[in-house]
Parts: sequence; structure tokens; C-alpha cells
Amino acid sequence: MKRAVCPGTFDPMTNGHLDIVERASGIFDEVIVAVALSPDKGGGPLFSIDERVEMVGAAVAHLPNVSVRPFDSLLVDLARHVGATVIVKGLRAVTDFEREFQMAQLNYRINDEIETMFIVAIPEYMYLSSSAVKEIAEHRGDVEGLVPANVNERLVERLRKGR
Ligand code: ADP
Repeated sequence: MKRAVCPGTFDPMTNGHLDIVERASGIFDEVIVAVALSPDKGGGPLFSIDERVEMVGAAVAHLPNVSVRPFDSLLVDLARHVGATVIVKGLRAVTDFEREFQMAQLNYRINDEIETMFIVAIPEYMYLSSSAVKEIAEHRGDVEGLVPANVNERLVERLRKGR
């Protein structure tokens, strides 16, 4: 039984994230999407941890071997806690590489029983990020096709009300 964790802030989940989770779910027996609390990232997340977990849950509902949970600890500690031996990350352009390389090295140093593996983003989603999606949506741009349908609805609803 091979279990992997797919970590991120998912503020909100994009189709790029979803593609990585779907591909990971075809490789591993079980995938746990781990949603980081990340209170300080980029001036604080737009969506609360509960909202992000709920949105990811709805977007991965079609994948029977995928579950979602929040976390606010060291990633390797979460992986050990849930019995996962692999951390799966998506890799976009070279800009991701240095940060991901550093995190993978440090995580390996903290716990060498957990491997980090990368799935390369498809060209269509190579330049897609949560922050770009929020920026487009904040300026009333259309993000359909860039995020799961349920996320699109929540973004429109949230930004209509204002932050
Ligand atoms: P972001 O970098 O968009 O703020 P996260 O912190 O939630 O997102 O990222 C979690 C993981 O998802 C990271 O490994 C990141 O490289 C990956 N990821 C983010 N966007 C994409 C994408 N468009 N395609 C593939 N992987 C992605």
C-alpha cells in the first residue's frame, strides 16, 4: 500500500493542482491532499482553511482514493502521522525549482524515510497559479477553465461580497 501526500495552500485550488492530484491518484494507492493553514502567505489567504478544505474536497470527489485534510505542522511529520512515504509536488516553470529543491532537501534531512517526487505541469497549466487566478477574478476577469467549477462559483461569490 503506497500512500502519498500532495501538499499546498490551495488558496484556491486551480486546475493545475487538480491535474497533479489526478495524476498522483493514478500512481499511488492512496493520495491525501494536505491543505496548509499558511496564515502568513501573501498577506493571508483569501479563503479560510475550512473553505479551502471543502473546495478541494468537492473538486476531488470523483477520485475514490483521494482524501483531504488540513495541516499546520512540519510536512514530514504530517506524512509520518498519516502513514505516507511520498510527498508529491507539482513542478511548473524553473521559478518553482529552486524553492522546491530547497524544501525537498530540507525535508529529506529531517526525515530520510520520506521521498519527494515531482510531477511536471502540463504546458496548459505551466503558468497557472492561485495568485494569478485571484488577481484575474478580483478584476472581474473570467477564470472559467482555470479552476474547478465549484471554485469558480466561490470566487465570484466571495469577490462580489468584497474581502
Ligand atoms: P501556489 O504555488 O499556486 O500558491 P500552492 O502553494 O498551493 O500553490 O502549491 C502547491 C503545489 O502545487 C506546489 O508543488 C506547486 O508547485 C504546485 N502547483 C501549483 N500550481 C500548479 C500548476 N499550475 N501546475 C502544476 N503544479 C502546480
